[in-house]
Amino acid sequence: MDQQPATRVVPADDLALLVTRIFAAAGCDDDEAKRIGTYLVRANLAGHDSHGVVRVPRYTQVLKLGQVRANQSLTIVSETSNQALADGNFGFGQTIAPLAVDLGIAKARASGIAVIGLRNAGHIGRIGDWAERAAEAGLISIHFVNVFNGELVAPFGGVDRRFSTNPFCIGIPMAEGPPLILDFATSVVAEGKVLVASNGGKPIPDDALITPDGQFSSDPAVLYGPLEGTYERNPAAGPGALRAFGGHKGSGLAFMCEVLAGCLTGGGTSGPAEKGPGRRIANGMLSIYLAPAGFDAAHFAATVLDYVEYVKSSRPALPGGEILVPGEPEERTRAARLANGIPLQLRTWEAIVATAHELGLNDVVL
Ligand code: NAD
Repeated sequence: MDQQPATRVVPADDLALLVTRIFAAAGCDDDEAKRIGTYLVRANLAGHDSHGVVRVPRYTQVLKLGQVRANQSLTIVSETSNQALADGNFGFGQTIAPLAVDLGIAKARASGIAVIGLRNAGHIGRIGDWAERAAEAGLISIHFVNVFNGELVAPFGGVDRRFSTNPFCIGIPMAEGPPLILDFATSVVAEGKVLVASNGGKPIPDDALITPDGQFSSDPAVLYGPLEGTYERNPAAGPGALRAFGGHKGSGLAFMCEVLAGCLTGGGTSGPAEKGPGRRIANGMLSIYLAPAGFDAAHFAATVLDYVEYVKSSRPALPGGEILVPGEPEERTRAARLANGIPLQLRTWEAIVATAHELGLNDVVL
């Protein structure tokens, strides 16, 4: 029988507090440290461990290297009543992204529609958080995201890295209950899922990676190079690439994320990536916000609810199966993890504790 990797279960509030202390010790002001703790743990609560606290060692490392900056704000580069281009000054994504979303919310509330280009943001994590923020304000939102200098993904038919994992996200507010949130990377799996697998977590699919000679693989070393003896996972160090999802269609969507979030915002595309320790990686995001009131809001509110029920009424393909709508798996995982705690791979937990110790938080114990 396969041996399951050891896990450590931590209550969400305790985990958020620990991450907050780590980033306060690393130089973030109290509000920013709290935001980082909150949003990383929210990703774990949603079931996206790839974008949760597994990122703590990497975030402190990029802060130390000056690739991301503590305590930044948005600079507005250009602006009209319903459009803006904002620069994140390489600040933490957990600070920069909500500011950009709030700008979109304010403009869409006044004008009915708003388009916000964001560039030079530190890692903005799980994009569903930003669609949820807009949905809480009653707005539909659509997000195209790329990663400047972050190429990891081979295009359809290729083996060389040309895209980042470029997430695409749509959020729909509902008259009742949680919003619909479609939120996925345009690679077969997000890079963080390879990171989680490399720490002994859930394995990735057999066709998630491609070697330089065109073989499909699920071995995280294809992306990171040799794994033994280190907690560090440097995706620039591996010989191969992630693969775009969905054949030419997913590859095309990834391509357009680069064009909209990288070229149009001026933040830059994922490649050709710079090499070396000074290499700075940043998210770009083009977001569209729509107020339902500008359309047929009453029809929208009623028919979306009905349509969700209709879709869910499809007969399952497998006995005992169930049809879920976008956002539903995350809602369920959130409820379960709020009640029972967040299970972390032991290696992930050890890396967080080691990071805390490096920053002088010696009371944190394994
Ligand atoms: P994924 O493959 O788990 O897909 C998630 C989406 O599919 C969600 O909308 C979910 O509700 C829906 N879904 C999942 N199972 C379903 C089912 N059985 N029925 C119906 N719908 C279902 O996500 P992923 O591609 O691994 O991405 C994970 C996270 O990584 C996302 O939150 C994304 O924003 C984030 N990400 C961020 C960056 C960045 O640069 N900041 C880059 C890549 C990915």
